[in-house]
Amino acid sequence: MIRTRNAHAHFLRGFALLLFLAASSAVALADGETAPARDPKQPVDDAYTAKIHKYTTQPFFTSPLVDYLPASKTVPTPEAVLGDVAGAPGILPYAEDVYKYMRLLEKASPRVKVFSIGKTEEGREMIAVAVSSPENLKNLDENRARLAKLADPRTIKLDDAEADRIVAQSVPVYYITGTIHSPETGAPTALMELAYRLAVDESPYIREIRDGMITLITPVVEVDGRDRMVDIYRWHLSHPKDFYPPLIYWGKYVAHDNNRDAMGVTLKLTENVLNTYVGWKAQVLHDLHESVPYLYDNTAGDGPFNAWVDPILTDEWEMIGWRNVSDMTKFGMPGVFTHGVFDTWSPGYLMFIAAMHNGISRLYETFGNGGADTLPRTLDPEEYARTWYKQNPPLPKTLWSQRDNNNYEQTGLLTSLHYFNENKRLFLKNFYLKAKRSVTKPSAEGPSAYVLPVDDPRSGSQAELLRVLQKQAVEVSRATSAFSVTLPVKKSTKPKKDAKDAKESAAPPAPTTREFPAGSYIIRMDQPYSRIADALLDYQYWSPDDPQKTPYDDTGWTFGELFGVQVTRVTDTKVLDVAMERVKEIHAPAGVTGEGTIYAINNNAEPSLATLRYKLRDVSIEAAEEPFESAGKKFGRGSFLIRNANRSQLKDAISDLGLQATPVSAMPSVKTHPVRAARVAFVHTWLSTQAEGWWRIALDNLGIPYDYISTQVVSKTSDLNAKYDVILFPPVGFFSSPTAIINGLPSAWGNPLPWKTTPETPNLVGKNDSTDDMRPGLGWDGVANLQNFINKGGVLLTATDTSRFALSIGLADGVSVGNAQRMKIVGSVIGTRLVDGASPIAYGYDEKLSAYCDNGPIFSLSSVSGARGFRRLGNESHTRPTGRGTMDDPDFTVGRPGVEVPEEPKAEIWENPLLTDEQLHNNYRAIPPANRARVIFRYADSKELLISGLVEGGDEIAQHAAVIDVPTGSGHVILFSINPVYRGETRGTYSLVLNTILNFDNLNAGRKLADK
Ligand SMILES: [Zn+2]
Repeated sequence: MIRTRNAHAHFLRGFALLLFLAASSAVALADGETAPARDPKQPVDDAYTAKIHKYTTQPFFTSPLVDYLPASKTVPTPEAVLGDVAGAPGILPYAEDVYKYMRLLEKASPRVKVFSIGKTEEGREMIAVAVSSPENLKNLDENRARLAKLADPRTIKLDDAEADRIVAQSVPVYYITGTIHSPETGAPTALMELAYRLAVDESPYIREIRDGMITLITPVVEVDGRDRMVDIYRWHLSHPKDFYPPLIYWGKYVAHDNNRDAMGVTLKLTENVLNTYVGWKAQVLHDLHESVPYLYDNTAGDGPFNAWVDPILTDEWEMIGWRNVSDMTKFGMPGVFTHGVFDTWSPGYLMFIAAMHNGISRLYETFGNGGADTLPRTLDPEEYARTWYKQNPPLPKTLWSQRDNNNYEQTGLLTSLHYFNENKRLFLKNFYLKAKRSVTKPSAEGPSAYVLPVDDPRSGSQAELLRVLQKQAVEVSRATSAFSVTLPVKKSTKPKKDAKDAKESAAPPAPTTREFPAGSYIIRMDQPYSRIADALLDYQYWSPDDPQKTPYDDTGWTFGELFGVQVTRVTDTKVLDVAMERVKEIHAPAGVTGEGTIYAINNNAEPSLATLRYKLRDVSIEAAEEPFESAGKKFGRGSFLIRNANRSQLKDAISDLGLQATPVSAMPSVKTHPVRAARVAFVHTWLSTQAEGWWRIALDNLGIPYDYISTQVVSKTSDLNAKYDVILFPPVGFFSSPTAIINGLPSAWGNPLPWKTTPETPNLVGKNDSTDDMRPGLGWDGVANLQNFINKGGVLLTATDTSRFALSIGLADGVSVGNAQRMKIVGSVIGTRLVDGASPIAYGYDEKLSAYCDNGPIFSLSSVSGARGFRRLGNESHTRPTGRGTMDDPDFTVGRPGVEVPEEPKAEIWENPLLTDEQLHNNYRAIPPANRARVIFRYADSKELLISGLVEGGDEIAQHAAVIDVPTGSGHVILFSINPVYRGETRGTYSLVLNTILNFDNLNAGRKLADK
């Protein structure tokens, strides 16, 4: 979650000196439980403790666990690096300083070990800090080997008694991750101090945690973003009276969505945390956030729960969540609760790595000030309202400090760790049981496997999908010989109409079998991490009647559909007996077969075709405009024809791209056009860079070069055509309005908001863009420049909100956008249909294409300039008016012979309406056929719209155009209602964008024009 604020003042430190409650004596304990309190014999660091009290704004914003700092003669406190205590006002350490401290701890204490766990996109280090007893740290490998057996029960033949023996000897691993969301700034200092406490405190409560378990800490998950945030904060401190720039970039590519990457594992931070979690065989992943007062433990969230998690886990959520609330309530800390608005449907959150790998996912939202200022904070009524799950709500108004936040974070974590340790046998056994139930999945709930056929025409995308599964630690196997499986009969939903139908349905249709060739990939479901594979490959259904009316995130994600590859869910357990071998590395079949002077590469809408084009910049490549056959092989539209290629150069270029080149004896007789390496500009705003960040990472991974420019640069570049052939303007996000894109941020008042590298802000820009002032938008000059660019032959590609923008300012004619009335498509997988397969944008695609849609704009077409297109809402109405006769009968007029009603030209929803004779009469507004919008894909019919997720009121967008090419001047505007590039999950629709780039100067190829 994120909370954005724009006004702030630098507020006083040391608001009031406070009395602290001796709450521990009031806490009732179960038999044998250790009191959560300091040992009276524990020496205390008085100076540090006094500062803790000074920076805590209310006596009840702390607990007996953190209202003092244990003293140590040898181990440095966080003050050694921070210059003050953790959570002190005005102090926000860079990741490097946090690491420096953790390494000081490691040097000073045998109870701390620091591990490097990988690098970020910008090359910064990520670490994990283990804190435990020296014995536990010495025996890490032995313990890990034991945990590995629980994590993979196949290694102990699913022997429960053996599992019990291992559980008794094992030390669990509790993994805590901080500040994945860069404006949520408190976790690093809280975790520095937590590590110190765990390392030095001799109170029984802490000692038990230290001796009984391993606490593993990644203090900064989004390291690139952390350093930017600290830059901004320091800028703010030195310009206390100015507004400071909002954190437009966090990581190199995405902002808040870094916590939505646990499905696709596109970002380094996800991969590094996933590898650490799985590698350590950890039991818990507890992720720290800061956007809800004062501690929302969303461990026990709201429904619907993810359908693929083990109910053992959902019970653990409740146990742990409510116990945590109870512990903190007893300390008298207000505003701690666990039930709330967060549903647990999507597995995209970082913490869900644990949920999908047989562990326990946890997440805290504490209360942050977006920096280290102490600020008066006023809450919304719903935030401070008392509810059944929030009996002790936060205060409507309070002074709040970073130290308060650190107190809550540390108190919550310490009680969590202690509770977990007290019950570690139970949780370790559950860890084993969840893994065992993952292994026995085929015979329990099923399915038995997913099969990806080796003859899938999109072998490159198939390989990418399999690599995602492998990143998720899923085992991938390959059949060593052909095999067949029995597929279940699909229940017919057709109503029985007459006796004949009834007789037919009396005999149940026979189950079908399906053959798969040798080499087909099998994802066995009898493996420990079957749940993540199942969750990614299965279909999702979110009922429009679900009591949860505000899905927290996407409702559908079926990876096979979004990658455009075939995935078969197999329930037949015999599939597990097929001869197969494990695959370590996935290699899509690739290479050059035979010798020749002309090579053909079939076009299956594989994104790697675009990679090839840019890799072989100097080689001339042509695209076939029609299908052809050569050397006994069939080639589709858009297939590449490469003349006079150097065979070894070609071979090298395609070997890792999953492409196959075949020599052909002569150029086919079909029409061709050159495929050129277009010069691409990639435009971003200074409003938000996240939605476009997913486009950037996709292009970077594919090796497609582009100039990354802001709307401000567009407004200053009068001749865009001199530099660019194609301008990509990906979604801004948050349904940004056209006015926001043009105007930018308010600039009639306030100070400039620089996004620049300066001595004060050394990390701000990184490898992204910079500006002296983030506020100006595209402006009207920018609009004019875009218009000129298109008129002079440029191609502008827009999607979702930027398509809306392009249409609302008249950059394309003949298309309008309607407002949905009832439609609710919340991040769903949607069916689309090919309308014009001859368009180069459609090269390689089939009739049906699944796409990601999040309440996309509803496009309607018109053949009359400036007119609103015909838009259908709801089911089609009947045409005849009220009158005499039956529905099919003609009406009459009394006293007059009947007249034939002239037939009006009719067009489908996605087609340009034909012009009537009346409209054609001197109509200077009539758009000539060549200037009309060309629809490439449309949304499927209402009944076939939903593939995965939630679709309500889908008839409003059904059949409407989804991808349109509008010829404008000498150029083109390409409009997407779907979002073709999203979160590393939609590889199947990437080529709609890439085809546009590759065929930028021949987009009219294959176009058939209407007669009038
Ligand atoms: Zn957050």
